[in-house]
Amino acid sequence: MSVSTSPSPPVGRLAPTPSGHLHLGNALAFGAAWLSARQAGGRLVLRFEDVDEGRARAEIEASQRDDLRWLGLDWDEELPRQSSRTYPLGALPTYRCDCNRAQRLAGACRCRGEEKSEGRVCAALPKGQVSFEERALGRCVGVPDGDPVLLQASGAATYTLAVVLDDLRDGVTEVVRGADLLDATPTQVALYGLLGEAPPTYLHVPMLLGPDGKKLSKSHGSAELRALRARGIPPEAVWAQLLPLLGAPPGPIAAALRNTAAPLDPAAVLRGPFRVDEVGRLVPMGAGGG
Ligand SMILES: [Zn+2]
Repeated sequence: MSVSTSPSPPVGRLAPTPSGHLHLGNALAFGAAWLSARQAGGRLVLRFEDVDEGRARAEIEASQRDDLRWLGLDWDEELPRQSSRTYPLGALPTYRCDCNRAQRLAGACRCRGEEKSEGRVCAALPKGQVSFEERALGRCVGVPDGDPVLLQASGAATYTLAVVLDDLRDGVTEVVRGADLLDATPTQVALYGLLGEAPPTYLHVPMLLGPDGKKLSKSHGSAELRALRARGIPPEAVWAQLLPLLGAPPGPIAAALRNTAAPLDPAAVLRGPFRVDEVGRLVPMGAGGG
């Protein structure tokens, strides 16, 4: 396997899921993606990842665009959302599986190698480890978490299939995202291998947890960017909290880019997770655990 050194500027992506309003955890991941691409003179695309959301939720997409602009993040091109794309399997080796969820989770599925005409479509991944470049951690080796489902029994593409085919089609060369997705990386990398393609590089930024210790989500309304904005908190204050987690100077994110040669150094990105309180303030490290 050859490691590609990309001489051309990177292509990054802002890929929000329009299932809820953007929160501080999304801001951290998108800010890191933005800094990474911009400091290298690269391109950024915006793509709404709504493959699991059914029909596009136009009002949430609009609010997410507003939040990104409010944060000071821009993009070079908005690409078609997932729900408007098709996801052909091409020559991927696949098999049908009609096991229920409990059987699959228990590892009791024996469908691979059988000739089934019904059920979901799974990728027949090669057995064994894959390796990939994680820019903070270096060369990583991992084992895919079983054969991923590519198509639901309904024929609908899963997120795993959509995100890999989209990043390939969109020419994305670097993926910057939350640490909760690190575990999914070996499966995605194995899918690139099955397609005969090189994966992008990865950088995982710390997860932000709510006051309840759970990953920030739409149930933590006070950590939503629109809630902070409604309370009169400026974007500079958001970045003053978040940029130090990336090892970057606090302040407006555009200033970090202007005043610092390389504001995002993957080796300086903190591990986390970090916790935010009931009003969306970062709990100092060592206070409140995490
Ligand atoms: Zn099965």
